[in-house]
Amino acid sequence: MHKKDQPLIFELTKEGRVGYSLPELDVPAADLSDLIPAEFIRTEEADLPEVSELDIMRHYTALSKRNHGVDSGFYPLGSCTMKYNPKVNEYVARLNGFAHINPLQEPESVQGALGLMYDLQEHLKEITGMDEVTLQPAAGAHGEWTGLMMIRAFHEANGDTQRTKVIVPDSAHGTNPASATVAGFETVTVKSNEDGLVDLEDLKRVVGDDTAALMLTNPNTLGLFEENILEMASIIHGAGGKLYYDGANLNAVLSKARPGDMGFDVVHLNLHKTFTGPHGGGGPGSGPVGVKEDLIPYLPKPILVKQGEDFVFDYDRPESIGRVKPYYGNFGINVRAYTYIRTMGPDGLRAVTENAVLNANYMMRRLAPHFDLPYDRHCKHEFVISGKRQKKLGVRTLDIAKRLLDFGYHPPTIYFPLNVEECMMIEPTETESKETLDSFIDAMIQIAKEAEENPEIVQEAPHTTVVKRMDETLAARKPVLRYQKEV
Ligand SMILES: *Cc1c(COP(=O)(O)O)cnc(C)c1O
Repeated sequence: MHKKDQPLIFELTKEGRVGYSLPELDVPAADLSDLIPAEFIRTEEADLPEVSELDIMRHYTALSKRNHGVDSGFYPLGSCTMKYNPKVNEYVARLNGFAHINPLQEPESVQGALGLMYDLQEHLKEITGMDEVTLQPAAGAHGEWTGLMMIRAFHEANGDTQRTKVIVPDSAHGTNPASATVAGFETVTVKSNEDGLVDLEDLKRVVGDDTAALMLTNPNTLGLFEENILEMASIIHGAGGKLYYDGANLNAVLSKARPGDMGFDVVHLNLHKTFTGPHGGGGPGSGPVGVKEDLIPYLPKPILVKQGEDFVFDYDRPESIGRVKPYYGNFGINVRAYTYIRTMGPDGLRAVTENAVLNANYMMRRLAPHFDLPYDRHCKHEFVISGKRQKKLGVRTLDIAKRLLDFGYHPPTIYFPLNVEECMMIEPTETESKETLDSFIDAMIQIAKEAEENPEIVQEAPHTTVVKRMDETLAARKPVLRYQKEV
């Protein structure tokens, strides 16, 4: 079969073919009706593919080769921190004592694992400048929601039930307003000024005694450091609100600055971004949340504490918002993040920040002559350029992104943040070499040249991928998510 026509696994079916070998059943079959209520017992055979083990292996290996991952190429997806995931993390996460334990085991029998969780919490407290940390949330957005629920519980305990609004900048990551809404708040947008930073006058205008919190990313999604952060903190605290730090991307502040010192009350981290957990395939992630002293009572329960030499779970938390995840968080990702922090050490983490920021500024300056640079200032770990100039030639940012696929690169984040026209948001990360950065820059410059001289080649890209340009509207509006024989 030609590579381009990879059949579906169902189309490889040969009746009776199996991918396993098990001995004949030599004991009486269990009577399912004793175990499962009748209405849940399947009456028809499930329509599963019937293939050999080798068929399965070849099928999924072939599909996996069509994927782009950090291990196969440069992946400068802004606000995603697609950095290299060190393989030593995988080694440690696979150690028997970590990989083969069960969350239902008695705490006394898994003291090593609990010790690792406890130490990780201590490291994250130190890195963020917070007083306590929970490892329960399974992703960044989940951490946001957890943090907001704590803020809500805090205001309610103070009788401040009128605090129903969460302020979010117009450059915010989409999960911020979404989490605020799911946590039962109303979102209020605060504008950015011409420097790409939160407009302080607008902030003063929207803040009030109905303010529950301000959610902020710093550096913001334009890669710019909110230099007025202390003043913003005093405006919000002065009005009785809390400051929430979206720390999904900590690559610009690790070992340099701490949200806790900037005046933030709550912070979530994405261990699957900054702390080298593999991601991009949809999980599992880890979004720990750190809080300042006055929010500790509301942390999800149980919390992990040290009593003498023992690590124990404390369930006696009457003001807790409750459990936010079955068991205690995605332990495997936490092991990887712990390994990363311990292999880097404080100096290594500082070097991460310095190199991430250097790489981003280097790329930004080299691309600046060829694209529009909406905010001409030093950036932090990422930056945005605009394809406005190319759009006038009939080449959209989407076309540029598609053309990059022909050069073997994953495109940057596009059309985000929303406050920049024809936006491209590029985050090179610290793990890439200068040679890789240069080749990507060369590809971008060539595409800019093509836009002037030969726009069709960009407009019709990609030319070299298995699947050509897709109808993205149709894919989003009418996704086909299930195999149906008649299709
Ligand atoms: C990735 C990201 C999130 C969401 O994290 P998930 O783990 O995908 O839920 C939130 N905020 C920012 C700034 C991010 O980059």
